[in-house]
Amino acid sequence: MVKTDIKSMTEQELEELLKGLGQPRFRAKQLFIWLQSGVTDFDEMTNLPLALRESLKETCYIANVGVERKLVSEIDGTVKYLYKLFDGEYIESVLMKYEHGYTVCISTQVGCRMGCSFCASGLNGLSRNLTASEMLSQIMYAAKDNGIRVSNVVMMGMGEPLDNFENSVRFLQLVSNEKGLGIGLRHISLSTSGHVSGINKLKEYNFPITLSVSLHAPNDEIRSSMMKINKKWNIDQLLSAIREYQKVTTRRVSFEYALIEGVNDSGACAVELAKRLKGIMCHINLIPANPVKENSFKKPDKNKILSFKGKLEALGLNATVRRTLGADIDASCGQLRSRVKEGESIDNS
Ligand code: SAH
Ligand code: SF4
Repeated sequence: MVKTDIKSMTEQELEELLKGLGQPRFRAKQLFIWLQSGVTDFDEMTNLPLALRESLKETCYIANVGVERKLVSEIDGTVKYLYKLFDGEYIESVLMKYEHGYTVCISTQVGCRMGCSFCASGLNGLSRNLTASEMLSQIMYAAKDNGIRVSNVVMMGMGEPLDNFENSVRFLQLVSNEKGLGIGLRHISLSTSGHVSGINKLKEYNFPITLSVSLHAPNDEIRSSMMKINKKWNIDQLLSAIREYQKVTTRRVSFEYALIEGVNDSGACAVELAKRLKGIMCHINLIPANPVKENSFKKPDKNKILSFKGKLEALGLNATVRRTLGADIDASCGQLRSRVKEGESIDNS
């Protein structure tokens, strides 16, 4: 029998489930609170009748992640986790400390099928989608392990969240529930490589999250050479979907732009980018590209990055250069997993 992933269920769904077991409604609330507090065993749910716990054990499982490796940055305390899932797959998460609190960067898929040329997560394609409960578990583990409350979440780890749409939406609904982790949607960013049909669907939910769009290039020629998805949805189609998204949500969007030396870092690129983004309420995150072993690209030097930023600002755009956290522990997602898969040994720091 395939067991039910009970930690991915909403309170309402639990009510239905328990109704079928002849249980009163308040039990669903108790069960929901237990599950969203991160318990991993039905026996910990001491205010539920033993018979109910036993029958839940027979039909349901509580998703969890097990830590396989943990790396702590000596520079800034950033913690990177390599988690092993129940089926032996690996995913990564990163815990970062900022002035305003703790942020966890979570994975949404095992691998990724978008195959961007500069990214380690997509090197071996997609293995499978993560469940909402596996996304939640990454946050719960990091919070418990460090004895902290996580205040922000970025869906920027391995995987394309909009290619795993249903589970990502379910995750957003659960993580923001006051009876659970209670992380407000305004404190959550979802990063997409430009999945236009996903953006169109997400718009209907009108979540007050920050949509982060990995643009990385000012024209189709450059973008298609870096990102396969641009051949399916080009920049014009992507930007018009974003304009529509913004009309509905009235939220500022973020554009990610990974600067790669000699590819997308010229002054002309900055000018073209500014022109393209005209009329979109946005912020641009410049990310010095993180070299990946399997690729040969480099990040531009500091002056080049600052001059790109200066040019955008002179043209009226808001841009920041992303602070590099955990530079000593390969904090970019996908890198650790691909090294472990190759059987390379990694020392814990
Ligand atoms: N799939 C989603 C979210 C995960 S990737 C997306 O692509 O947006 C999170 C961010 O890391 C994206 O902006 C992605 O383009 C960026 N990224 C991936 N590999 C990188 C690298 N080697 N250097 C810099 N940024 C990288
Ligand atoms: Fe997938 Fe994002 Fe990596 Fe592209 S950058 S391969 S979409 S995880």
